[in-house]
Amino acid sequence: MTEPKIIALTAPSGSGKTTIARRVLAAFPEMTFSVSATTRPRREEEEDGVHYHFIAQDEFQALIDDGGFIEYEEVYPGCYYGTLRAEVERATVAQPILLDIDVEGAVNVKQFYGDDALTLFIRPPSLAVLTERLHLRETETEASLRVRLDRARHELTYADRFDAVVVNDNLEQAVDETIRLVGAFLEPQMDAD
Ligand code: 5GP
Repeated sequence: MTEPKIIALTAPSGSGKTTIARRVLAAFPEMTFSVSATTRPRREEEEDGVHYHFIAQDEFQALIDDGGFIEYEEVYPGCYYGTLRAEVERATVAQPILLDIDVEGAVNVKQFYGDDALTLFIRPPSLAVLTERLHLRETETEASLRVRLDRARHELTYADRFDAVVVNDNLEQAVDETIRLVGAFLEPQMDAD
């Protein structure tokens, strides 16, 4: 029998995914977050070991060589992100794990874990809305904004390969819908608060 335990949330940056992930974790107190490793530079508000394990390219390569990742991707040119095997292997039915990974990563996780995994795609109502949200965030330069929008366009083409798509038109509704989907996946082992 397979046991539901992995929830992969995917969304173009600026889709409200971080907020949704935080709210899902609050709704399911036994759930923990899988801290990925990345070679991208740390943003000011981020903490090493909490948001990501920020590591150098050679360390990342050593982890690849040692089989330390269940999946990894070069999400942006020169920036690698990977799900650590140790993070996912500690997940159980009673203590599921939440992954925040890109589209290819989520599709790979689904392929590998099948019914043990729920893949959710959080999408903005439109690319125009996404552009506006990224502008408002003001953490991006014009160049990195363009890269992120190109990436978003690419990611949107993957939506139908996910278990479910949640449109973030209204954040509260998107949170509720995501929590409902996660609850239905984990039941009867666990109920939302
Ligand atoms: P950001 O740089 O904005 O934190 O994240 C960029 C993208 O990398 C996001 O879409 C995020 O979901 C994805 N990402 C973060 N960690 C991983 C990971 O371990 N594996 C994969 N495949 N993508 C990841």
